[in-house]
Amino acid sequence: MTQTDTIAAIATPLGTAGVGLIRVSGPLAPELAERIFRPAHPNCAWQSHHCYHGDIVSSDGKTVLDEVLATLMRNPHSFTGEDVLEISCHGNPLILQTILEQLLELGCRSARPGEFSERAFLHGRMDLSQAEALAAMISAQSAKALQMELSQMKGSLTRRIDELRSLLIDALAHLEAAIDFSEDVSDREITAVSGQILQAAAGMELLLSTYRQARLFTEGLRVVIAGKPNVGKSSLLNRLAGRKKAIVTDIPGTTRDLITETVTLDGTCVHLTDTAGIRPPTDAIEKEGIDLVWRQMEETDILLLLFDGSKPLTDEDFQIMEQSQNYDVKILTAVNKCDLPPAWNNRLPDHPLYGKPLLSLSAKFGDGLEDLKKAITGSTNPGEPPSEGVMITRLRHKLALEKALARLREAQNCLTTGQSSEFAAFELSEALNALDEITGKNVPEDVLSRIFSSFCIGK
Ligand code: GDP
Repeated sequence: MTQTDTIAAIATPLGTAGVGLIRVSGPLAPELAERIFRPAHPNCAWQSHHCYHGDIVSSDGKTVLDEVLATLMRNPHSFTGEDVLEISCHGNPLILQTILEQLLELGCRSARPGEFSERAFLHGRMDLSQAEALAAMISAQSAKALQMELSQMKGSLTRRIDELRSLLIDALAHLEAAIDFSEDVSDREITAVSGQILQAAAGMELLLSTYRQARLFTEGLRVVIAGKPNVGKSSLLNRLAGRKKAIVTDIPGTTRDLITETVTLDGTCVHLTDTAGIRPPTDAIEKEGIDLVWRQMEETDILLLLFDGSKPLTDEDFQIMEQSQNYDVKILTAVNKCDLPPAWNNRLPDHPLYGKPLLSLSAKFGDGLEDLKKAITGSTNPGEPPSEGVMITRLRHKLALEKALARLREAQNCLTTGQSSEFAAFELSEALNALDEITGKNVPEDVLSRIFSSFCIGK
């Protein structure tokens, strides 16, 4: 597919910086390079992928706009697969804007968000999963997410999907040949096809099983800190965040809204939420805050129950423990204020949580914080992302895989219950279509535009 128009955009964030980058892609790029760039050395041959030093000049040739480095990457060996011109100028927004305006005057169009990646996809330079990984890599919040997205951008998921595809194509070919040449498909052929289907289904199940872990890397771990008023929840959030985010006071019931702070603990992105102290509410606002705490439990990965070690446990503590058992969530228990003389022996008697290790900490002075961080990041055991990074990181991919798997199960069912092979073949081709949604071979145009429009400008 060839695009006739040439697009241009500032590819670096607007703001003062040492360097800023302007990107141009499309058939006009080589001509524009000639028109607006005055090389410092006369032998500028515009060899592809060579960097040239010179000035960008105004269209009448009278004013120098900036001293730059310019690179032309000729099609098809460029990011977009088209002729691409990249101008590295000084990172003053005025310079970048002036050069961009000049390019627009000379026939370029402003690029839409993600349009460079969209062109790369349309020219077969990358598939949709790679383009999505590229966008996710740019906004990755942790080193682990970065590593995983990079691997996907380099094609790890594409290769795995291709392997699954070829299994299905083989199975389908077997089935269709048998349908074409004989009335009945032999038992031997059914066994062979069935084996391929089961192998592909196992591969899909394996990929699907990585989703939860991958989500932890890409979206981060959600941790809700809960406990009765004054146990030190806000102090703990502030301590982990390294700054004052939540109000700390002796007055119970001060935190009424949810306060969330994102921090990186041991390379893992963690969203910490401080909640209203749980107790019988004194007014409607406090009640609403406490209801919110319980609603958070549905969505969190870890519930960190905090107790005050300097005061005897009360009914409120026990009620919180009781109620937390109703949620399917990983529970960590910690006793705060270990800098003060203990009022109880840091064990939780007569309770399901009894016997669970209790972390001892002081939010005020920082004791026990390292153990708490380890407990948070280790408790979901995300481990290291595999270097090949074949994990499902996006809901869109997960849904497509689930659809493909359901179709495979249906195909298998058709084969084992002796239904006509045409039914099995139909299910297999539907499974292939679902797989093709991941790589973008089978994605409606409006879905494609929606995906690319969520990318940033200049990417
Ligand atoms: P929250 O209501 O659970 O959010 O509790 P806060 O963080 O507002 O703390 C309530 C009171 O306990 C404040 O006076 C804090 O300074 C104090 N506090 C919090 N953590 C500690 C701690 O580790 N040691 C001591 N001695 N006091 C603490």
